Amino acid sequence: MTPQIQHIDHELIQAAAHTARTRCRGDNHTMAAAARAGDGRIITAVNAYHFTGCPCAELVLIGTAAAQGAYELDTIVAMGDRDRGVVPPCGRCRQVLLDYFPTLKVIVGQDDRTRTVLITDLLPDSYVWADHQLESE
Ligand SMILES: [Zn+2]
Repeated sequence: MTPQIQHIDHELIQAAAHTARTRCRGDNHTMAAAARAGDGRIITAVNAYHFTGCPCAELVLIGTAAAQGAYELDTIVAMGDRDRGVVPPCGRCRQVLLDYFPTLKVIVGQDDRTRTVLITDLLPDSYVWADHQLESE
């Protein structure tokens, strides 16, 4: 059972919904993500689909945030275009988000089931890359 965190960042959900509604186009950009940076800023991004591999909106957002000098993220949410609502991160994104931001909160669930959970709750008993790096001598 995933523990529930009470606070839901509705402003973040609105930012992701707005980006999904206004910036997603065709088949290349179908998902939007918004994250609250450590300094309070909201950063948004969309996915970049290509048949060779698709950086999800969450992964594009990590680079977008870094390009704006935001290296710490507090909370993230992803939303689908065409009013698909909140979409939980895929397995790859869960691993990447956990490795980049071990204390990250993620908004998941639709409508009245929307809730904020810890990234560690979305990937229990997970592999932590940093724990398995050998010390260089
Ligand atoms: Zn993903």
